[in-house]
Amino acid sequence: MRRLIIALALLLAPALARAEAPAGDQRLILVTMDGTRWQDVFRGPDKALVDDKTFTHPDMKDFIEKAWIAGPGAKKGAGGAALAPFLHSLPARGGVLTGNRDEAQCMAVTNAMWFSYPGYNEIFTGRADPAIISNDKNWNRNVTFLEWLARRPGFAGKVLAFGNWDVFPYIINAPRSGVPVNAAFAGRYPTETLTMRAALDALREQKPRVLYIGLGDTDEFAHMGRYDDTLGAINRNDDFLAELWRLVEADPAYRGKTTLIVTTDHGRGGAPGPAWTEHGSAEAVRLDAHGFTIPDPAGFPGSEQIWLAAIGPAVHDAPQGPACLGQNQIAASALTALGEDWRAFDAEAGAPLPFFAGR
Ligand SMILES: [Zn+2]
Repeated sequence: MRRLIIALALLLAPALARAEAPAGDQRLILVTMDGTRWQDVFRGPDKALVDDKTFTHPDMKDFIEKAWIAGPGAKKGAGGAALAPFLHSLPARGGVLTGNRDEAQCMAVTNAMWFSYPGYNEIFTGRADPAIISNDKNWNRNVTFLEWLARRPGFAGKVLAFGNWDVFPYIINAPRSGVPVNAAFAGRYPTETLTMRAALDALREQKPRVLYIGLGDTDEFAHMGRYDDTLGAINRNDDFLAELWRLVEADPAYRGKTTLIVTTDHGRGGAPGPAWTEHGSAEAVRLDAHGFTIPDPAGFPGSEQIWLAAIGPAVHDAPQGPACLGQNQIAASALTALGEDWRAFDAEAGAPLPFFAGR
C-alpha cells in the first residue's frame, strides 16, 4: 500500500507542481502600437477618411479599397481582418482580441490625460498617476513591472525594452531600473523598421524572458494627418507581430511558454472629420500638456478608448462581462502570465484581465 501511495505521489507530483507553480521559465512579449484606434483595428479603413484627399493620397485610395476594404478574398475577410490579419487570427488560436465597441467590448485608460506618457506609465505600473501630466522627459518616479522583474531572481539581465520614441528611457527609467532601453527615434521621419529589426535580433540572440517593444509610427503618421500611412503602419505592425510569433513558435526557448500581449497607450478622437488625427482629454488641453494638441477645449472624446490582444499559455477564453476593462489591468496580467504574484508588485494595481485570471 505504501509503495502504491509513493508511486501515485510520484505520478501526481509533476502535475501538482505544474498547477501550483506555472512559473519556471514563462516568458512575455509586450508590444504597444502607439495611439492605434480600435475603430481601425476592428472596422478596418474608414471610407470617409479614405475618400478625403486631405488624409489619403488619391494614388493610395484604390489600393486601400481593394486590399483592406473589399479584402483580398472572402476567406481572409475584409475590413479589420484584412488590415490586421494576425491580430484577428488570435481568437481562433485560443487567444483574445478585445476592445471592439461595436460588439460591446469596452476597454479604456483610467488616467485622465489620454496621451502617451500617462498611458505607458499606466500599462507598466498598473495604475494611473495623476501627477504625470505631460510627455516631458522626466525620469519616472514609479517602479514599472519591468523594473520590478529585473530585480527578481531569474530575471536579471533578461528584461529588454525597444521603443521607437526617445521618451521610453525616461518612462522605464533606464538608469535606475536596470532595464536596457533601445530607443531609436528619427523625429518626424519614422524609422520603425529599425526598432523591429533590433527587437527580433535580440529575441534570437539574447533570448530575454521579458521583451517590450514600443512601436510609434501609427501615432506619428496620424498626427501628420496621413490616414493612408497610418493604415500602412497598422498593417506593417501586424506583419511584424506575425513574424515575431513565428519566431516564438519555432524556438524551443519560447515555444509553449511565451505570452504575447499587444495593446495601445491611448485611442484617438472618434468624431467625424479631422478628430482622428488627435487625442487627449479636456483636462490635458486645459493643462496644454500634450504638445501636439489642436486647441479644442472639449479635448478629443474617444481617445480614452483602447483595445488589447493576447495569446499564450496564460491566456484562456473567458466571458468579459459588462464592466469596462482598464489599461491599469495590463501590468497584473503580464505578471500573472509570468507566474509572478502581481500583489507582491503592487496590491493596489488593477487586477488581471478576466482572460488571465483563475490561474
Ligand atoms: Zn500622439
